[in-house]
Amino acid sequence: MSDQIRVRFAPSPTGRLHLGGARTAIYNWAFARTHGGTFILRIDDTDPERSTEENTQQILRSMEWLGLDWDEGPQKGGDFGPYFQTQRASHYQAALERLIEKGAAYPCFCTAEELEASRAAARERGDSFQGYQRTCRNMDPAEAQARIDAGEPHVWRLKVPEDHPAVVFEDAVHGTCRFEAKELDDMVLVRSDGTPTYNYATVVDDGEMGITHVIRGDDHLSNTPRQILVFEALGYKIPTFAHLSMILGSDGKKLSKRHGATSVEEYRDRGFLNDALVNYLALLGWSLDGETTIIHPDQIAQSFTLDRISKNPAVFDEEKLLWMDGEYMNSMSDQEFAQRILVPQLAEAGFIPPESYSQRAAWYDQLSNILKPRCRVMGDAAEKSRFLFDLVYDEPSVNKNLAKEGTRGYLRACYETLEVLGDDIWTAEDIDAALEEVPVKLGVPKKKVFQALRVAECGHQVSLPLGPSMELLGKRESLSRIELADPLAQD
Ligand code: GLU
Repeated sequence: MSDQIRVRFAPSPTGRLHLGGARTAIYNWAFARTHGGTFILRIDDTDPERSTEENTQQILRSMEWLGLDWDEGPQKGGDFGPYFQTQRASHYQAALERLIEKGAAYPCFCTAEELEASRAAARERGDSFQGYQRTCRNMDPAEAQARIDAGEPHVWRLKVPEDHPAVVFEDAVHGTCRFEAKELDDMVLVRSDGTPTYNYATVVDDGEMGITHVIRGDDHLSNTPRQILVFEALGYKIPTFAHLSMILGSDGKKLSKRHGATSVEEYRDRGFLNDALVNYLALLGWSLDGETTIIHPDQIAQSFTLDRISKNPAVFDEEKLLWMDGEYMNSMSDQEFAQRILVPQLAEAGFIPPESYSQRAAWYDQLSNILKPRCRVMGDAAEKSRFLFDLVYDEPSVNKNLAKEGTRGYLRACYETLEVLGDDIWTAEDIDAALEEVPVKLGVPKKKVFQALRVAECGHQVSLPLGPSMELLGKRESLSRIELADPLAQD
């Protein structure tokens, strides 16, 4: 095995890919890409009751949508497969046989009741160690074999060397971590039903797959000394560990469903841009230089180093994510925004056929130019421009701005002013300039006239800027909307 960096993201398909998992995936991916290494996706599906095929598919979809391409794993294959733990039983069995052979694993026949009784006794004695008391560790091998042959249920435990010193490792995020070996019991490697435990399967896989860096959530920090003992027993090189601090919700508690949307697919469905989400999640615990906030995923994939990961828990703030999403949209060219966001969103909302762009490219580009700085999620594009396709009067807006004394006169004056504009000067600038004169001539406040006209044109008192909106509507439609609003106005 070369010194090439090999990292893995190993989700358990017991639910959707959530934001915390996505951040772990992003860090592994970006670390591999930055260092020209290999990014492996492994599915930890050893929990048969909670793992589902649907969840696996959903995780793969989320990874793809985020743009986190993996080099080895499901759909890709690779030299170190299979990449599903349920398909690796023979690997766990072979590794166990190696451990048995070298005397590093032994069978334990203690029943759950016996283990509980021994724990209770330790508690009673006031022992600080309440783990497994190594009851079966020194059983005569012939007796053990006879009991196995007789079909007695048993697990396989790791025989931690008697004189093992404290387990010490340098975590790339948390620094030196030290665990006294006597606090670590002879952990179960293989359960009585033959299935491997997480700490065992993970090490067999990480070892066989040549993983050089384990980057994962710090909920696994306490598993690490146990895993190191297994690495040692199996004779694998111990990887570098980097344990990531939790992501917290605004209330300071671990981010969870209670805080609203937490799965990647929910954010996709709400119209967030994948790049913005990757950028935002990457910054929850990592920084390029402590100040840059907009870092495109391509750039993250060139500049990710472990030394810039923060030890402190990061707080997820949806407002910031919305802001960032808006920044990504605003930084697109008008054409890109129109083709990637506006037209698909309008088509999805049923306002236009999907292939509309090429027929009116300049018009969609112009609309995009106005919309871009005003959108935070993709869905805003259709929402904010729907009035161009489908005029719906908002009742409170009508009551407040149109159904008022004198508005009929305002609308009429606007109509007359606009009607005489030549077709060739129907631009936002000319429209605005012409309309400026109306309130002056009428001797009424600007706002009254323009709000009445705005509701007539857009259906709502809050809308895109009036002049550009009317330019996009075109002269005929703008004028006919004024006529249409006449019955709502008052003398
Ligand atoms: N399947 C484990 C999890 O989802 C992986 C932990 C690890 O990376 O070792 O938490």
